[in-house]
Amino acid sequence: MAEPEVEVRRSKRRRRTVSAYRDGNKVVVLLPARMSQTEEKRWVADMLSRLQRSETRRRSPARESDAALSRRCRELSAKYFDGRTEPSSVRWVPPMRTRWASCTPSEGTIRVSERLRDVPGWVLDYVLVHELAHLLVPGHGKDFWTWVKRYPKTERAIGYLEGLSAAAQLGIEADDDLDEAEGD
Ligand SMILES: [Zn+2]
Repeated sequence: MAEPEVEVRRSKRRRRTVSAYRDGNKVVVLLPARMSQTEEKRWVADMLSRLQRSETRRRSPARESDAALSRRCRELSAKYFDGRTEPSSVRWVPPMRTRWASCTPSEGTIRVSERLRDVPGWVLDYVLVHELAHLLVPGHGKDFWTWVKRYPKTERAIGYLEGLSAAAQLGIEADDDLDEAEGD
């Protein structure tokens, strides 16, 4: 993973606590106002490695292989689609210019961009649910979203992906994922 851009913010209200969070590709580290440069350096390094460890823990086991990705799709299909969606193939593909994933409903195939290998599991799950729903409803109409929104973190995941796309200036459009004319 590339070294993220770090923004240090110091606050007079902070006495001892140090915290950090990711904002797109940037990491914001919050420090107490009175802290030496040496302490700042040590804390920034410490917070970056903590953040990375927690993000690594949150990644999906589906990142490991196409087989693991297919397995995850079967679990999600059982949970959110009563087992009604059965893709003929699901695989990781090299980063696509304008897409996180794509689906060919008539063939039942789903492809997921390598760019998503390191996102939290709940974000990858949303993308898989989105593509699985296309096997039932090809377009992005009301019926489609009724299925997708059975996945409770849909809104949050869409926000996460928009942030990721904006931060990396990828220009990826959420709804540009169908390889065929939309049916709605
Ligand atoms: Zn779609």
